[in-house]
Amino acid sequence: MIKKALATALLAGFGLQGTVSLAADNEINIYSARHYQTDEALYGTFTKLTGIKVNRIEAKEDELLERIRNEGANSPADLFITVDASRLAYADQMGIFAPVKSALLEERIPAHLRAENWFSYSTRARVIVYNKDLVKAEQAQTYEGLADPGLKGKLCTRSGSHPYNLSLGAAMIQHNGAEKTEEWAKGVVANFARAPKGGDTDQIKAVAAGECGVAIANSYYLARLMNSSKPEDQAVVANVVAVWPNQQSWGTHINVSGAGMLKTAPNKGAAVKFLEYLASDEAQAYFANGNNEWPVVASVKVSNPALEKLGPFKADTLSIGKLADTVSEAQRIFDRAGYR
Ligand code: FE
Repeated sequence: MIKKALATALLAGFGLQGTVSLAADNEINIYSARHYQTDEALYGTFTKLTGIKVNRIEAKEDELLERIRNEGANSPADLFITVDASRLAYADQMGIFAPVKSALLEERIPAHLRAENWFSYSTRARVIVYNKDLVKAEQAQTYEGLADPGLKGKLCTRSGSHPYNLSLGAAMIQHNGAEKTEEWAKGVVANFARAPKGGDTDQIKAVAAGECGVAIANSYYLARLMNSSKPEDQAVVANVVAVWPNQQSWGTHINVSGAGMLKTAPNKGAAVKFLEYLASDEAQAYFANGNNEWPVVASVKVSNPALEKLGPFKADTLSIGKLADTVSEAQRIFDRAGYR
């Protein structure tokens, strides 16, 4: 879907060469695969602060990347925003990003949440949820434990080829090695209560309903249910126990939302300003809270009842850029294990 403003900007750009340089200081074009309630405030505040107009195209990441590829050197896109480290890594491997050197971003965003050519702006955790009538607490404390034969017929997850699970697999390869991760994936498949289907929320609901004993899900899906006023969502929450996995070892697996500047960006100065703005206290609060995530800037306060209730935890400190190195290996391992 093309936002009207961007369509107008494009027409102006093609028709009147002279307007392009003028536009360079005054607007940016963002291709975003993220869309949340707080976005209007997020973009509106940037325009208010800088006078730079924000034009957005929002679509699924595959469509946006395809578009960037087709537009090539003529792409009006300055920035690409999406969720999941493996997707950001994929975009990076396509060679679309330009490195951005910013002292401010280096100071605000922890090193392990920055990749060479893109930055993380919020984090989410991959948590375990279980049904205490079907699974004992000690069976649901680690990712590794999900492959234990004691959980036969009780485990539910979304597809193994989904980026969220591939990123988890990629982290496990780096912590435990490829061989152990392959054994793990086979154990996971052997424990399935049903063939993978649906999204993370469906797994949480199936645990609450007793169709599955234990599942993995991203934290914001759980937080969304926790913050919901619908009685049916509250009933789901009441029937599951959430666990921060791997607190005694390498910590809970973390994934991110992030953004990078395009090599072909026509408005590079303004684009860097926007990347820096996203790390400001105000933007961090919008960006993270829009999807019940955590800000990457440590000093930013979170005011989200569900996240407060879930409490603090030990997160994996593996570099998010390094995670990309083992994503394809995770895919091959999952394929061999039949984790589809
Ligand atoms: Fe998601």
